[in-house]
Amino acid sequence: MESEIQEKYIKAGKIARQVRDYACELVKPGAFLVDIAQNAEQRVRMLGGEIAFPINISINDTAAHFHPEKDDQTCVKDEDYVKIDVGVHVDGYIGDTAKTIRVAGKDDLIVCSEKMLETALAMAKPGTTIGEMGSAIESVADEFGFKSVRNLTGHSLGKFDVHAGLIVPNIRNDSQYQLREDEVIAIEPFCTTGTGAVKDSGKPLILRWIVDRPTRLVEARRILEMARNDFQRLPFAKRWVQEKFSKLKVELSLRELLASNALYGYAPLKEVSGKPVAQTEHTVIVKEKPIITTC
Ligand code: MN
Ligand code: MN
Repeated sequence: MESEIQEKYIKAGKIARQVRDYACELVKPGAFLVDIAQNAEQRVRMLGGEIAFPINISINDTAAHFHPEKDDQTCVKDEDYVKIDVGVHVDGYIGDTAKTIRVAGKDDLIVCSEKMLETALAMAKPGTTIGEMGSAIESVADEFGFKSVRNLTGHSLGKFDVHAGLIVPNIRNDSQYQLREDEVIAIEPFCTTGTGAVKDSGKPLILRWIVDRPTRLVEARRILEMARNDFQRLPFAKRWVQEKFSKLKVELSLRELLASNALYGYAPLKEVSGKPVAQTEHTVIVKEKPIITTC
């Protein structure tokens, strides 16, 4: 990898880590999710990064893809498992990292997700197969007596691309694909006391440009332009467009843009049995001595 590109990955990773830790400090009883999101976004820019995707603040059985709407009134409670997942880019090179915070204290579920990640990171070397990594991750969950979430995976990262093709399952699998030197991957095990699967739940709060389409509503056309230009085809928050247009216009526009497949929508993902989920994530550059950019 060119050293200039590697430096950008490292810079993005460092900012993502700082913002993740800052957002985790804001997780206090009574804190509004909207305030955590806004403060985290400001901090990304203050540190010289750009947002690669809206911060995910997913609580308890919501495993991922939650981002508050503008008028969301949700507050943090003591016993909540709050998953803070941050994505930052520098010239398109992304750092993606997550941590689970619980005001009432870290418990085995959180420790398990950390150990699952630790185990996988030590294996992020050229030649390790995706199959070997998945079984090592799932074995840690087995030892703790939890389930590794089978339909959430890690992924490779590319320039301006949060999911660049390769998937990194958190369960046993027979993939013989061998990791290559300089591949950049986000490893993100999720574990749960539930059955170990998630499903789409509710309307998307995070969206992404797919293709330009003719629109009926003027606002829909404006939102599609923002998705392509302002948000650089990266995932963006429904909240951000609610800052520009009325709630009703946003609802109608997004309905139109999702129906015509101009936008992709990421629905919040909930554990199927309603049980809490913990997640820990780092971005790593595959090397004989792996470079973890987000720690
Ligand atoms: Mn993430
Ligand atoms: Mn990720």
